[in-house]
Amino acid sequence: MAEPIYRRVVIKLSGEYFAGSHSFGMDQPTIDRIAGDLIAARQLGVEVAVVVGGGNLVRGVEISSRGVSRPVGDTMGMLATVMNCLALEAALERKGQPARTLSAFVMPEVCELYTRSTAFRYLAEGRIILLGGGTGNPFFTTDTTAVLRAAEIGAQAVLKATNVDGVYNADPKKDPSAKRFERLTHSQALEGGYKVMDATAFALARETSLPIIVFSIAEPGSVGAILRGMGRGTVVAG
Ligand code: UDP
Repeated sequence: MAEPIYRRVVIKLSGEYFAGSHSFGMDQPTIDRIAGDLIAARQLGVEVAVVVGGGNLVRGVEISSRGVSRPVGDTMGMLATVMNCLALEAALERKGQPARTLSAFVMPEVCELYTRSTAFRYLAEGRIILLGGGTGNPFFTTDTTAVLRAAEIGAQAVLKATNVDGVYNADPKKDPSAKRFERLTHSQALEGGYKVMDATAFALARETSLPIIVFSIAEPGSVGAILRGMGRGTVVAG
């Protein structure tokens, strides 16, 4: 089997994916399947940090449209990401993979606070770390969190897991003539306004020279394939 091309990565999982075929909540078989894919990645010897979204439970913008202030709505969204981390941590540990949730917020009864040194310590112990609470600030996203944490812990790439196998010039689910990009520069991704990640995330990745690989997690084993440089996806770099 080909060797992995990365030593340490941040994998971004959208909260929506945790809902499986539902529009809300946590679908246990889906979470268990994701856990299995992450364990396979870890077994390649790659250090794995995971940033989980919260869109399956709460989105700040949506909540704030109902009258709650945006910062409060976003705080609810960030707390939702911690719940997803706890669900994934439990699924990983049930399968025998040590994992640890680290939150951007102090919540000692729930999980440890994220610091770089704690992250490094658990990665060195072979644990998968789950980074919850987003950046800890409203008005940001967990895509931006993934790039930020990757830059902080010296990850070599952000693996952005989606439902499609890369970045397209139009929505491939609506437009059958949509073209998939094999490779894009950060600037092209920003200028193209592709919806796959927000502009802040692309801009920070450009600033920190961090490659982002957009791929589909719907294919079982796709994480491992991307880590070995063999998967199908779009590389945003350079
Ligand atoms: N959020 C935030 N700051 C962050 C990260 C997330 O305020 O640094 C909030 C925001 O309200 C967002 C919600 O958490 O809508 C869930 O995150 P996101 O939408 O990125 O999750 P995903 O779309 O990946 O499920």
